[in-house]
Amino acid sequence: MPIITLAPDGSLKLPEQLRDSLKLAPGDQVSVEIVDGALHVARYVPAKPAKPVKPAKSVPATVVSIPEELKTPMTAIKGVGPKLADILAKKGIATVEDALYLLPNRYEDRRQLKRIAELRPGNSEAFFATVVSAEAQVTKGGRRYFEAIVKDETGSLPLKWFNFHPQFLKKQFTPGRRGIFIGDVAQFGFQREMHHPEVEWAGEGEDIEQVMARDPENFGRILPVYPLTEGVSQKVMRRIMRDTALRYSRYVKEALPEELLRRHRLLSLPVALREAHQPDPAGSLADLNNGRSEAHRSLAFDELFFLQLGLAMKKRGIALEDGISFQVSHRYTKELLKLLPFSLTGAQKRVLSEIKEDMIAPHPMHRLVQGDVGCGKTLVALMAALICVENDYQVAIMAPTELLAEQHYLNIHGYCEKIGISVALLTASIKGKSDTLEKIASGETLIVVGTHAVIQEKVEFHRLGLGIIDEQHRFGVVQRALLKKKGANPDILVMTATPIPRTLSMTVFGDLSLSVIDELPPGRTPIETRMVRESRRREVYSLVREEVGKGRQAYVIYPLVEESEKIDLKAAVQMAEHLAQDVFPDLRVGVLHGRMSAAEKEAVMKGFKAGNTDILVSTTVIEVGIDVPNATVMVIEHAERFGLSQLHQLRGRVGRGSERSRCILLAGDRLSEDGQKRLEVMVKSSDGFVIAEADLQIRGPGDFLGTRQAGLPDLRVADILRDGGVLEQARKDAFALVERDPELVKPGNERLRGELMLRWGKRLELASIG
Ligand code: ADP
Ligand code: MG
Repeated sequence: MPIITLAPDGSLKLPEQLRDSLKLAPGDQVSVEIVDGALHVARYVPAKPAKPVKPAKSVPATVVSIPEELKTPMTAIKGVGPKLADILAKKGIATVEDALYLLPNRYEDRRQLKRIAELRPGNSEAFFATVVSAEAQVTKGGRRYFEAIVKDETGSLPLKWFNFHPQFLKKQFTPGRRGIFIGDVAQFGFQREMHHPEVEWAGEGEDIEQVMARDPENFGRILPVYPLTEGVSQKVMRRIMRDTALRYSRYVKEALPEELLRRHRLLSLPVALREAHQPDPAGSLADLNNGRSEAHRSLAFDELFFLQLGLAMKKRGIALEDGISFQVSHRYTKELLKLLPFSLTGAQKRVLSEIKEDMIAPHPMHRLVQGDVGCGKTLVALMAALICVENDYQVAIMAPTELLAEQHYLNIHGYCEKIGISVALLTASIKGKSDTLEKIASGETLIVVGTHAVIQEKVEFHRLGLGIIDEQHRFGVVQRALLKKKGANPDILVMTATPIPRTLSMTVFGDLSLSVIDELPPGRTPIETRMVRESRRREVYSLVREEVGKGRQAYVIYPLVEESEKIDLKAAVQMAEHLAQDVFPDLRVGVLHGRMSAAEKEAVMKGFKAGNTDILVSTTVIEVGIDVPNATVMVIEHAERFGLSQLHQLRGRVGRGSERSRCILLAGDRLSEDGQKRLEVMVKSSDGFVIAEADLQIRGPGDFLGTRQAGLPDLRVADILRDGGVLEQARKDAFALVERDPELVKPGNERLRGELMLRWGKRLELASIG
């Protein structure tokens, strides 16, 4: 923490570190204040009003285009006729450039042949052996097949054919004949076997080396294995790709600065591409298969660097736009702090000051606030909203579901009423909408809380200053843009309750500034999580009964998959009836599900909150935002059907008071090993980031984010899970470069700009920098 010293003349001296981080120049003024016992920078008045620096249009970008040679159609490759070209085109491979970027899925070791005893099931293997016998056979089920037994000095292996010409095979597989057999090794029980192998027969008196030397393309090297399309065999694919890589990779132009290549010991792009397709036999097979080879690392860096460069330029572009410069008067925020029965956590204060700094600056804020369930994001958002209102601007708060919007509304309305600020709820189902819309348009309503109804065309704001989006990743980039258009470059604050692993947030929200609330309010007791099998359901019921006996409340959650909403709904209602009538006839059981009207839902929730219901059976509508500190048990039915992040969200509904809370994950008796592993993550960890990381690893980025529109960029070679480290490095370098040369106009960087425009200009909408 920097120390501020009082100079002999009575003036305060800011340490350099602070000066730099505030970007202060001589003559700038800073006003500070004490909020909640902590010193805050309230307003920062530059000596000269900052004029937005517009990108220097006069500097022409070096236009970079794809070299002509790389546009060569695939038909130019030997053996690719119109028919094969069609098949490849369907897979997105029309030109040799497309082909160069179609990397192998994995690699096979053909440097040395295996012995039979070394063959591993599940692998594609090659070995040298001698035929012992060959006969047509019949399975117990009456199916005919052909079997040849081959052996070497370590053991024997059956080869099997299910579609075959008996005479043809019989003639080929004569006892004593030797050859190299290539195929996938399968295992049935204890028996390994190979189906439909390819064979390279040895001639009279030939040894292994001689047979291998006859086909240097397939033996004595590490072989690439390509993703296949119907109608193309691995062998053909390999040949085409080999030809393409050897002939055309040299035309790919290196785009990265020499300095970066040297510092990170990267291969130049053409070399990396060739190596990925035709690996050096001296290289490590494991590295190739893990994507950690020099070639893969270099390709990933190249791709991720340009993506990050684009995001850095985009972020900077936003930072240059004219925005609202809010002033912090504390008229309302002070009142809110007085109303709260607690004080802000250190993390809340820190994030709030980051937000304030953005709001004060004369450029639009674009900030993402991440924080685990229950860390108090809503409050931080409300503080930001009040700052906006203090400046006579309106605020829009957008939530993904009606229930959550209602929750936010009730919460915010509760405080704002006492402060004297008008808040309106705007969802598809509210009544008296025209009146609400009028008040928003006239500026009478200062804070609007709603669903995506907020960004509909007919909604007009008088003076929108701040848009807050809760649960961002359910909304698309489009919605973010629409909300922004409701005002004149308003500030945008995005909040996610599902922590997003860093690798993903760097990619998807790479143009936003990031704040993390990494601290829970004090007094929370950790939630105990257990996984219980269906067969022990009774024990779970007695636990629930015990808690209710102590005056506590319980949730029972049902999974709700959108397509089968009706069935699940029925299940939830039936379960509620069953619990009410058969299991807990003496207790009060309530039901909550998505098909109920907003009023019904609210009534049920209010009843539960007020303690009029002991057990609430609910579908996942309860997922977010519901806050009942007296609820201490949550039973999640079919827990294996949920994503981990969702389970974490759900679990966050208990443990909100000071009592010991428990979460029971009820899982089917026939839970798969994977399913078990997943649920164990929940039992072991209560850290949302750890869980999100595991969830991402299990489901992959697309499913994790839930929607395609979430803005996951299409990457050709990099894999943000596998290449997390490379991504981190590429981001650092790209952002540092933009820091040094914000418009990429310095000598040597024009080419980078051209390349950036070629690759990401359209996709990241970088038009303005071109
Ligand atoms: P999130 O939206 O991050 O899940 P909320 O904003 O809903 O969390 O806060 C969860 C609960 O914690 C609410 O009841 C809120 O009033 C309370 N809370 C928020 N900040 C604090 C704090 N600093 N100290 C104590 N309780 C807090
Ligand atoms: Mg919340």
